[in-house]
Amino acid sequence: MKFKTLASILFSFQFTLIFSQSFTERELEIIYNGDEDSPFRVLQTTDKVDSLILRMESADIDADSIAGNEDLRYFLKRLKNTLYASGGVGIAAPQVGVLKNIFLFMRMNHPEQLVETALNPKIVSHPIETVCFERDGCLSIPELRGNSIRFPWIDVEYYDDSGNLINERLEGYSRMGDFTSVIFQHEYDHLNGILFIDRLCQPLINSDELDRRVALDFNKSRDDIVKWIQSNHNFTPTEKQLDEWEESGILEFRIIEGEKRYFRNAAPNIFRVNADARQFINSSIIKSAEAGAKNILDTHLNEISETDIKGKYVLPEVSTHVKYTITVPESEVNDGETVKAWLPYPRMDIDRQTNVSFINASQDNYILSEDQTEHTSIYMEQVAKKGEPITFSVEFSFTSQGEWFDLSQITPKPYNKDSELYRKYTSQKPPHIVFSENIRSLTDSITRNDKSEIENLQSIYSYITSNFPWASALEYSTIPNIPEYVLQYNKGDCGQVALLLISMLRYKGIPARWQSGWMTHPGEVNLHDWAEVYFEGVGWIPVDVSFGRGEPLNNRIGRKFFMSGIDSYRLYINNDFSGKFYPAKQFPRSETVDFQRGEVETEKENLYFNKWDYKLEIISQKKE
Ligand SMILES: [Zn+2]
Repeated sequence: MKFKTLASILFSFQFTLIFSQSFTERELEIIYNGDEDSPFRVLQTTDKVDSLILRMESADIDADSIAGNEDLRYFLKRLKNTLYASGGVGIAAPQVGVLKNIFLFMRMNHPEQLVETALNPKIVSHPIETVCFERDGCLSIPELRGNSIRFPWIDVEYYDDSGNLINERLEGYSRMGDFTSVIFQHEYDHLNGILFIDRLCQPLINSDELDRRVALDFNKSRDDIVKWIQSNHNFTPTEKQLDEWEESGILEFRIIEGEKRYFRNAAPNIFRVNADARQFINSSIIKSAEAGAKNILDTHLNEISETDIKGKYVLPEVSTHVKYTITVPESEVNDGETVKAWLPYPRMDIDRQTNVSFINASQDNYILSEDQTEHTSIYMEQVAKKGEPITFSVEFSFTSQGEWFDLSQITPKPYNKDSELYRKYTSQKPPHIVFSENIRSLTDSITRNDKSEIENLQSIYSYITSNFPWASALEYSTIPNIPEYVLQYNKGDCGQVALLLISMLRYKGIPARWQSGWMTHPGEVNLHDWAEVYFEGVGWIPVDVSFGRGEPLNNRIGRKFFMSGIDSYRLYINNDFSGKFYPAKQFPRSETVDFQRGEVETEKENLYFNKWDYKLEIISQKKE
């Protein structure tokens, strides 16, 4: 473990970043460690120290002294040689360890002047819509290509190497032709510690890995399905029934190696999704789950108290002490191999979650991501010992406070459509938030009679809760576009319908975002996802589109609470989906959208969910 040394290296970088705009001593050492025709060493994400430097922010250089700056001239000469030697189309200064806002980008639109220098660059304007650029790659990330989310054009400002201030619009995002604008965006990201793998519009898993994951999800035979129904519901479906369920998508299958294989939870899903199927069985199981949700609601609605904000009510606080454990069996790791794990850890930037406190962890050395990433984690490492399983654990406590907004008492102001918040949370985020023809036409038809944004929320929420019953979901990393999947199969789990809700709200120009973690209700601890919607002058309002689903069309009281409220039994871990980890993962994630179970990898590969176990235990819980 070298975390101490690492910390001191990082500190010295950060120190110079704040107090100096000329090259630091360490940077000058790098600049002059070879003659001016020699290339630099390009930092690699596969190296631990390199990977952390690649995640740091760079500083502007002194714009007045560009023309006469000999250090800069020497640096740019070597940086160009590094670019030529690598065969890349762009390179940023931090990729060679110099944390300055400098990069080179290939001018595909000006063939006569192939490589341009950008000093202190800025993206001053871009459209809201994005494109999915194919096969992005990076000199710092060996052997990986992936499709990244980019703007089709950008207005930029930068100094060239003669010190002239340039303002221009860069276009071009086609892999087949000019993609100058994408190169600029990719290099610009490096200056902020962002890599293309943070902006993927499709899961970064290759087709073999995708096939493996699908095969694990689809592991039942037709016989297994029949047996499950016989032993759980005491009746035998006819072949005709099974065929019908298959055709309508209720009984989900894939053809794997020439055989029909059914989704591992396809059998129980039949009775969750299909009212006709429920007539064959004793539906008390489904009813009792609904009753549980209703009890929570009845209690909640009796416990709410007013706040200073009109229409906003709060619930009693609940403090919870949990232990989270990941166990990798001895069979999955080799003796002497380092196993790395990211365990979920509570956020501190959520007003409804307070008193976050660390209690203990299985390893003395650990790294807390804190709130700098969309997924908050505690990172630990262990070296495998022959014949012993590996266990990572962490204990922490937190206080959660639910809230509810009475939508009839709220009058939102008009949106400030130029604000960063508005632009970010009304934009598309491929592959799961896309304003497709399906989303556009369905949303338009659901909201056609609405007179306000509040009514839009009510219409969309009611439509989703009434039409898409809860069902156990395939692994998200295997689904190309989750809202489209919900529309196609007429079902969804909590995160799937949350993404549908967010897509529809954003399409209507209403800011909406993802939020997820765990639900910690007494007797009902589980992964859970929900959303938040923003009304100007009011703020972010929680929306849980999962609770109170089930019976078609009957819009009960529970839906009203969770349309603009959340209970006090939540552990908040993610404030967006498909975000970053700190420290960064080296291998493709097991879960490419969400983060609750954790992520595990060795120095050689990602360890997928079938290779380890996870457990969240409630040690104690107290309602204030
Ligand atoms: Zn790069």
